[in-house]
Amino acid sequence: MIVRPRRLRENAVIRNMTAETRLSASMLVYPVFIREGHNIIEDIPAMPGQKRYSPDTFPRRLEELAKTGVGSVLLFGIPEHKDEVGSQAYAENGVAQQALRIGKKNFPEMMLIGDVCMCEYTSHGHCGVLKGETVDNDPTLKLLAKTAVSQAAAGADVIAPSDMMDGRVAAIRKALDEADMQDKIIFSYAVKYASAFYGPFREAAGSEPAFGDRCSYQMDPRNVREALKEAKLDVEEGADMIMLKPGLPYLDMLRAVKEQSPVPVGAYCVSGEYSMIKAAAANGWLDEERVICESAICLARGGADIIITYFAPELAKWIKEGKI
Ligand SMILES: [Zn+2]
Repeated sequence: MIVRPRRLRENAVIRNMTAETRLSASMLVYPVFIREGHNIIEDIPAMPGQKRYSPDTFPRRLEELAKTGVGSVLLFGIPEHKDEVGSQAYAENGVAQQALRIGKKNFPEMMLIGDVCMCEYTSHGHCGVLKGETVDNDPTLKLLAKTAVSQAAAGADVIAPSDMMDGRVAAIRKALDEADMQDKIIFSYAVKYASAFYGPFREAAGSEPAFGDRCSYQMDPRNVREALKEAKLDVEEGADMIMLKPGLPYLDMLRAVKEQSPVPVGAYCVSGEYSMIKAAAANGWLDEERVICESAICLARGGADIIITYFAPELAKWIKEGKI
C-alpha cells in the first residue's frame, strides 16, 4: 500500500494539525429570552438549562457569557401585553428595547442582535398583521421596519428579521438609513423552513399561533431552489449576512446556500435540536459533551460561518480548553 489514510489519524497532534474544520468562539451567537418584570431568572421547562431573564437580570447573563468568550447574543422579547398589531414590538419602552438599552450600557463591547418579528407580540401569534386568517405582507413590512428602527435606536448593533415576509430586508434597510443608522447590520433569516423543530421555542417565547400554522410564509421543507431564491433576494435587498434554520436536518441546504452566497452565512441550531440532545443525555442515551461538539463541527463543516446556538457558552469553554 502506498497510501494509508490512517497515518494522519494516528494521534491527536496530527489529527489537530490536519483538521479541515476549526471552531472559534468568535463565530458563536447565544440566543436569549427576555421577559417583562423585575429580578426574574426563570427556567424554561421544554429547554432544560435555558432561562428567561427580565431586562434588569439580563446583564448578569451577559457577564457570564463574556467570561466564557461568547461575544454575541440574539435577543427575543416576550411582552406582558399582546395585541392584534403587536404594538409592544416597536414600543419605545418595549421589553426588547429595555434589555437592549441596559445590555448596551453595561456591555458596550458585546454584539447585540435584535430578533425582529411580530409573533411574540401579536395576540394571534402570527408573524404579522392579519387580513382574515392570512398574514398581510405589505402592511406588516411597516411594522417590522418600525420595530427594527426602535431596536437599533435602543442599542441593537444588528437587526435579524425572522418573519419571512417578502421585501422585509429592503423595507428595514430603507427605514434604518432614513433614521440615520446606515451602519446597523442586517442579518436576515433568509431561509427559514416551517419546521416542527421549533416546538420548544414556542413554549419559551410564548409564540404559538392561536390558529393555523406558518406554512404560508415560512418555507416548505421539501424545497431546495426556493431556498436559493430566498437567499438571493435577501442579499439583493441589502442583507449583510444571512441565516438558515433549522441547522442539522438541513445541512444540504446550508451547503447549497453557502455555495451561492456572497455574504457570510449563519446556521441556527434551533430549540428542538437543543432539547433532543438534552433529553437523550438526561436519559444516558448520548454523551452530551461529545454530541454538542460534533453538532457544532458539522454545522461549520456544512458551511456555517456563524453558529447560533443555545450551547454557545459550553462550546466556547470547550474551545478554550482545546477539547474541540
Ligand atoms: Zn415570527
